[in-house]
Amino acid sequence: MAKETQFVEQIADIEKDFPQWYTDVVIKTKLVDYGPVKGTMVIRPYGYAIWENIQKELDARFKKEGVENAYFPLLIPMSFFTKEAEHVEGFAPEVAVVTVAGGEKLAEPLAIRPTSETIIGTMCSKWIQSYRDLPLKINQWCNVMRWEKTTRPFLRTSEFLWQEGHTVHTTAEEAEASTMTMLGVYKEFAENCLAIPVITGRKTEKERFAGAVATYGMEAMMHDGKSLQAGTSHYLGQNFASAFEIKFLDKDGALKTAYTSSWGVSTRLIGAIIMTHGDSRGLVLPPVVAPVQCVIVPIAARKGGVLEACAKLKGELEAAGIRVVLDDSDNSPGWKFNEWEMKGVPVRIELGPRDIEAGKMLCARRDTLEKEEYPLDSAVSAVEGLLARVQKDMLEAARARRDSRIVYAENMDEILRGVETGNFVKAGWCGCRECEDKVKEVAAATARVYAEGETAEKCAVCGKKAEHVIIFARAY
Ligand code: ZN
Repeated sequence: MAKETQFVEQIADIEKDFPQWYTDVVIKTKLVDYGPVKGTMVIRPYGYAIWENIQKELDARFKKEGVENAYFPLLIPMSFFTKEAEHVEGFAPEVAVVTVAGGEKLAEPLAIRPTSETIIGTMCSKWIQSYRDLPLKINQWCNVMRWEKTTRPFLRTSEFLWQEGHTVHTTAEEAEASTMTMLGVYKEFAENCLAIPVITGRKTEKERFAGAVATYGMEAMMHDGKSLQAGTSHYLGQNFASAFEIKFLDKDGALKTAYTSSWGVSTRLIGAIIMTHGDSRGLVLPPVVAPVQCVIVPIAARKGGVLEACAKLKGELEAAGIRVVLDDSDNSPGWKFNEWEMKGVPVRIELGPRDIEAGKMLCARRDTLEKEEYPLDSAVSAVEGLLARVQKDMLEAARARRDSRIVYAENMDEILRGVETGNFVKAGWCGCRECEDKVKEVAAATARVYAEGETAEKCAVCGKKAEHVIIFARAY
């Protein structure tokens, strides 16, 4: 029993020291490790398996929208970045540059991609001749590099994995519609696969992607009430198409400049899962993306027939497509319970001699810690049903937690108090940059997204007429 207590104590208290809890959980569950170069991370098999499940789910959704996968080079000529003035300015501080290769100084320095609008724009200008070539919808799964000063695994690292979608259209309306469609795909995916409720909306000018006409984000509330930008979709207008000469011959015979969009989510999503659902015992993983959905722990494993019955059950669940592990190691059952709870496995099955004799199994849910008995002869449907309920209940629980922590503010004091106590704060805003900066300065909070469809009388900062309602929060 001493071993069990020791195990639990290894994770910092989630309520007292959330940052340390996060670090403990990501390292001790073997999701990730620190790379030798400062700011880099090694995604270990348990973490990478989550990413693979995210990829699988998203990729199917992209293809349904007519998006095709491709791959573009990691190295981008520096001159490409200077073509779109705002873009180069926005990314310059974060770009890593290769200046020497093959033992020689390069004639032109090469950027390690921080994002690929410039190189994809260049290639599109070559590929697109007429309206018949449009729309063009491309996605790439790749790594990108952004040199960051302060880093944390999954949340902010100098190299991370992501997908970046890029679309080219004949009209502004179509490109805008595509931007919104992909934002909708992200929201549906976040809610149904990650059980993370998100608020989607337009970003302010200050928070806009460098080079975009409009940026839309999806914001999720973490355990400490801070916001995490979990994905973005950008309407780029003709900014990149003009800079990279993406032109097409239209039906009327005129040569026109195209309209583009881009959208991305990254391994940050893994951080979002951890910080949305985690509890004092460690990870709580949503079944759709959990590397292991169900673990079988034999009780009194040395007794005749127990391991055999466990193996048979494992085979049945596996055949039904459930990701299942049989923990037949020589650790005690109590130790195993703690281990798999910390790793966030959605369903645990306990099976011992008495259960087998009675034709039953005991199932424990990771999200609620509730235990219930089910007949062994309908194990597959029982586990499938449980996994579906866990998935649905996790979303509802996260939504209820978030909704109870959205408050309204009439003035700067209320904004400060609201974010200090771990809330999203909705407040009227006049639309001026000075007031947005003031919120950052006084409350250390930023404008996450416009609260669509909501109105307020006055700007909570300056008291002038409010043009919008903004969701302010401290953010990762
Ligand atoms: Zn104002």
